[in-house]
Amino acid sequence: MQIVAGQEPPFGVRLTRRLARRTMTELNLRSGRSTETAAAPLKAAPARGSASAAATRAASGSDTAGEAIAGLRPTLIGLDRTELADRVRALDVPEKQVRMRVAQLWQAIYGRGARDFDAITTLSKGFRTALADHYSLARPQLTTAQVSSDGTRKWLLGLDAETAGVHGPEIETVYIPEESRGTLCVSSQVGCTLTCSFCHTGTQKLVRNLTAGEIVGQLMIARDELGEWPSPSDGRLITNMVLMGMGEPLYNFDNVAKALDIVADGEGLSLSKRRITLSTSGVVPLIERVGAEIGCMLAISLHAVRDEVRDELVPLNKKYPIAELMEACRTFPGLSNARRITFEYVMLKGVNDSLADAKELVRLLKGIPAKINLIPFNPWPGSPYDCSDWDQIEAFAEVVNRAGYASPVRTPRGRDIMAACGQLKSASQKMKASERRRLAQSSDTAAAETMA
Ligand code: SF4
Repeated sequence: MQIVAGQEPPFGVRLTRRLARRTMTELNLRSGRSTETAAAPLKAAPARGSASAAATRAASGSDTAGEAIAGLRPTLIGLDRTELADRVRALDVPEKQVRMRVAQLWQAIYGRGARDFDAITTLSKGFRTALADHYSLARPQLTTAQVSSDGTRKWLLGLDAETAGVHGPEIETVYIPEESRGTLCVSSQVGCTLTCSFCHTGTQKLVRNLTAGEIVGQLMIARDELGEWPSPSDGRLITNMVLMGMGEPLYNFDNVAKALDIVADGEGLSLSKRRITLSTSGVVPLIERVGAEIGCMLAISLHAVRDEVRDELVPLNKKYPIAELMEACRTFPGLSNARRITFEYVMLKGVNDSLADAKELVRLLKGIPAKINLIPFNPWPGSPYDCSDWDQIEAFAEVVNRAGYASPVRTPRGRDIMAACGQLKSASQKMKASERRRLAQSSDTAAAETMA
């Protein structure tokens, strides 16, 4: 494509240029390596100070990361306006000023991405000092950044541990730039209780649910890394967000719902819920609440059209079989042609990719405004499946297309850094309580780091 001098290049070109600039800077500064795919360890986050008794009391009952550990100042990331007001009141701010202070903090934290209170110059010096004495603006800690040869980025993020002196678990977040949009794929749990047989995350046991702050923090770190503060009103690099990373979002419903309310708030991160898609493997009793309470777009990890096959691929199907799942989709609140449900279908050679399967898929979807994402299988070490042949994927798509459903074949992205769909897995393992105690008591930090 030729760009004429003085003319604004198209979004995809601007995006590629911005990423290229950041990629080069990142590679030069962090690792000195010149290859396009690089894992770059980053410097450690600044140490956090002590919590006062007052702030600790004010923070109690919240789910923000770090609060369970004595000696850490609790972060304000992940608090909603009501909780933020409680924290402000705890610092003896007069009641008539609380609303204004909350609005200023909200704008600074979620709208401009402030990383420390001193940078929030709309607040008085005294109030900034009080805030810094009691709270922090800590996000999950970026430990490794990788860039795929296709521009996809994967970030490994360290979370706070539940016990002092122990390394916290890790999650992965992926950014996928495309010509007309940029999608951030975020995680909702560390590991997963469901053991979908085609999914790498499914081989990692659940360690814990993410807090609302850790879910929101993934978007904030992505914006840090892409240089996207303050929240731009147009020309954004991150235009969409999908909860398709590690974990089953509906098994962490409350934190996910709270996080998405914060993300969608128009005075902060301001990402519309029409641009946020929650993907579930089919937790039928909670699907209605996604439409009624969260109001974001819905995706279903379907992957098979017969119960005996889906029982194998998505074992949750044994509890909520296909017929129940389809009924929940048919009655999904707000379902319309403008708010279609996306059905994800991974293409597995000889397992679920026959033309009879395609016809059955069309039959199942009758009456549901839907789009079908066909996903060529992305292999991972030890995976038991092969990807369908390309001809077969095209023939499958043709059947679905002819029935009137959009059925794009999703181009695999970030395979070279294990960032593609179904490939995410962190090294975090759930430790026994005795192991945690032993590690917490250990003064040998190096040994603790190795075991975590
Ligand atoms: S596909 Fe989703 S629900 Fe299934 S194991 Fe993977 S992360 Fe869990």
